Amino acid sequence: MLVDSDTLWLASTNTYVVAAEPGGPCVIVDAPPDPDGVLGLVERHGLAPVALLLTHGHVDHTGGAPDVCQRAGIAAYVHPDDDFLTFDPATQLRALLGASTLSIRALERVERLTGGTLLQVGGLDIEVIHTPGHTPGHCCFLVEGRLFSGDHLFAGSIGRTDLPGGDLPTLIESMRTKILPLADDTAVYPGHGPTTTMRVERRTNPFLRDLR
Ligand SMILES: [Zn+2]
Ligand SMILES: [Zn+2]
Repeated sequence: MLVDSDTLWLASTNTYVVAAEPGGPCVIVDAPPDPDGVLGLVERHGLAPVALLLTHGHVDHTGGAPDVCQRAGIAAYVHPDDDFLTFDPATQLRALLGASTLSIRALERVERLTGGTLLQVGGLDIEVIHTPGHTPGHCCFLVEGRLFSGDHLFAGSIGRTDLPGGDLPTLIESMRTKILPLADDTAVYPGHGPTTTMRVERRTNPFLRDLR
């Protein structure tokens, strides 16, 4: 399996490509507002995108989605509980940047994510894990022992919950019931910062250490 990433835009958001084999179909996980950057990563590996998976509706993960989807001819998969974010990038940009000249057009091709389902795309089995807390519709994706954790779980930290729709007790409950049971050797690919493993986070992440 091929996994690679680039860190894009002013929020230093990780975008990932995941492919069952080199040169084949791939899924993209998250699209920061730098569609050239996202598609550049795809092209660097000669991959053929078949789906864009969005961990949640924040603009630093979704701002590039309309362009990426249109140019690649693919749909974006997002949880409906984040629609108030996904389809309103302008409000988020204003809150983030003040008066912004960056305009993002509407996402056209959308598929719905449902927690607890298995998505089979591009020769990959992708388990959709609904992990509300950072946002109501946040999802993590488990692909053959690799967890794409978005802004739910970071190396040494967890996602902030002070943004609209965020809720700390909900995040902790998602972590305890859905992420903590994952195997020690699960590799974790967060939406920001470096890769880690469940073994390391279970032992050293202060937000996970006391959860049992
Ligand atoms: Zn976020
Ligand atoms: Zn983020």
